[in-house]
Amino acid sequence: MQEIRVRFAPSPTGPLHIGGARSALFNYLFAKANGGKLILRVEDTDIERSSKESEENIMESLRWLGIDWDEGPDKGGPYGPYRQTERLSIYHGLTNKLLSEGKAYYCYCTEEELEAQRQAFSEKGELPRYNGQCYNLTSQEKETYESKGRKPVVRFHVPVNKEIVINDLVRGDVVFESDGIGDYVIVKSDGLPTYNYAVVVDDALMRISHVIRAEEHLSNTPRQILLYEALGFSLPYFAHISLILGKDRSKMSKRHGATSVVQYSELGYLPEAVVNFLALLGWSPGGEEEIMSIKRITEQFSLDRVAKSPAVFDMDKLRWINGIYIRQSSKEKVAEMILPFLMKAGLVSDNLSSQEKKWVELISVALQEHLATASEIVEHMDILVGEDIIIESQEAMAILQDDTFPSVIQLFKEKLAALRVLNPEDIKPLLKEITKELKLGGKQVYMPIRISLTGRMHGPELNYIIPILGKELIKIRIESTAKQAGINIV
Ligand code: GLU
Repeated sequence: MQEIRVRFAPSPTGPLHIGGARSALFNYLFAKANGGKLILRVEDTDIERSSKESEENIMESLRWLGIDWDEGPDKGGPYGPYRQTERLSIYHGLTNKLLSEGKAYYCYCTEEELEAQRQAFSEKGELPRYNGQCYNLTSQEKETYESKGRKPVVRFHVPVNKEIVINDLVRGDVVFESDGIGDYVIVKSDGLPTYNYAVVVDDALMRISHVIRAEEHLSNTPRQILLYEALGFSLPYFAHISLILGKDRSKMSKRHGATSVVQYSELGYLPEAVVNFLALLGWSPGGEEEIMSIKRITEQFSLDRVAKSPAVFDMDKLRWINGIYIRQSSKEKVAEMILPFLMKAGLVSDNLSSQEKKWVELISVALQEHLATASEIVEHMDILVGEDIIIESQEAMAILQDDTFPSVIQLFKEKLAALRVLNPEDIKPLLKEITKELKLGGKQVYMPIRISLTGRMHGPELNYIIPILGKELIKIRIESTAKQAGINIV
């Protein structure tokens, strides 16, 4: 049986995009599901736009997501090098072969000449393309061009009148005609291979069995298939996965949310949640299951459950999934996640004291249920820090103005004063005692205390709020809210 080898082949021209991450993930899942290997190949032949920084960002983002590869520029492997700019001699050797077999040729046309050709085709109502003018140049003609300082490109000679069929594992058979293509450049005048050429050489020599990539490359595939044939390579399987659209059905862009993976890590998303969300962009398991670990997804993954129709990037769904993963995390993990955001907001010091550490842990437990992302912690903090609070509504105000409020708050203050340290587990019994002693219902005790401490009718549980605020702040807040409600308390 053929060994399953897939690849993720990013161009390092920017940070890892969410669409690229989805392609990488589908390749990873396919490899893992079939006992195969994932190869990371860096397609850096666009020298101007490629950078080491982007390459590092891409690798770092993949690692963050938990997408691990078996061979790559950092790991090596039997079919390296895995960076295209380090493979130039390989392309060069094969270009000479194509040239000597008459399957490729040098072209000296200038940009102006090419433009004139394209226009001529357009005027005839045909697809603008190269007209093959340099296909049969004599060595004398070539010398003349060279003597004028023209640097040639190498063009592939496209066979005429040929039907090219892609047996796509996602899209079924897709048919193209060779006639509309025109002889295309495989080596640029600076000697660097074009994408369509290098990708074929590498996929073939790296023994890639399945090319799984974004739908936008479907139209490149006939050009690639012609090159496989010309070079005598056997074809891999192709699987083109659908585009990712925004909720408004336009192409995914910054308007629809963060576009790079690193932004999601910076916003406090969990990699497990992002992976879960990405897997569902164009793939679905058989049943209703949606919250799935990468291991579980791997067990279920197959290309025949990958949809042809575009996937919709729904930010609300990602937030929903992330919230579930936060709720499933340990309190230590949540504390670790929220800490950088609290530090950045200046709510704890950079050298965390043991007291602050305890405080952060309390906050993490108090708010774990309320967070969709770790960064949201900061928005929730105004309930928990600062002296100035405002009673949120007339309804809340009326609750403080109830006759029972002064006695509730009085007893609360007394009982609190009797505690040396405030621990969450001591608060519930304390509040219970108040209900008993004053013969009031739970709501008549909890609600006024909550409002007098936070100004709000809803929020995290009081047994956390109280230790987080601490006695000092509680005193100040009770006085402030009582004043706002026009109540005299002693
Ligand atoms: N370097 C190409 C890209 O980033 C790879 C496309 C492919 O997978 O063939 O779009």
